[in-house]
Amino acid sequence: MLIRTAIYISSCVELKKCPKPLIPEYAFIGRSNVGKSSLINMLTGIGGLAKVSASPGKTQVINHFLINGEWYLVDLPGYGFARISKVKKKEWEMMISGYLLRRQNLMSVFVLVDIRVPVQKNDLDFINNMGESQIPFVILMTKCDKVSGHEVKLTISNWKKALSERWEECPRIIVSSAKTGDGRQEILNYINVSNRAFTATTR
Ligand code: GDP
Repeated sequence: MLIRTAIYISSCVELKKCPKPLIPEYAFIGRSNVGKSSLINMLTGIGGLAKVSASPGKTQVINHFLINGEWYLVDLPGYGFARISKVKKKEWEMMISGYLLRRQNLMSVFVLVDIRVPVQKNDLDFINNMGESQIPFVILMTKCDKVSGHEVKLTISNWKKALSERWEECPRIIVSSAKTGDGRQEILNYINVSNRAFTATTR
């Protein structure tokens, strides 16, 4: 898929303020600093579309971008801030679960994990919860330029082992780098195929 246009549409704090669910949608989420903004900018080819975070954990909003006039790319607020208050954490959980469970046009969630960081409990919990709620997702490993090919294989194998405790069939894993563009075509191809499966009443 070629990205012809990528336009910022809106930032909303709750599901009912999101754009009408008339076209397929893909959400990106991960721990703070995982490289989500960089990845979104790499995918769309527009530097600065998603703000590369200087101060994580500020306002928690659901950002919609319209791609090629055909699908939404959604930047969800990250999790795992060290200094976030319990109240803010609860707010985040309510917002995210409300969105993930009820967004009718949501085709898939890309869960970003930093390839250099060992499997984390909160990433696994998040993934397993999505599985239980039957929300389709892909695990997206970021910053692969920072490690060797051998380390990439090792990390994938560690993830597969951790996932095999709950999953009979391993969820899809894509390896990416915002720096080199690795994974870009694989992600866009995946979205392209999913877009064709979209009907307005998908979920
Ligand atoms: P976010 O908080 O998840 O949106 O993460 P950012 O996109 O702001 O990235 C966090 C830091 O990681 C920044 O310093 C980025 O320059 C760096 N970074 C993000 N992606 C990559 C990547 O693919 N390769 C390398 N080498 N650095 C990256």
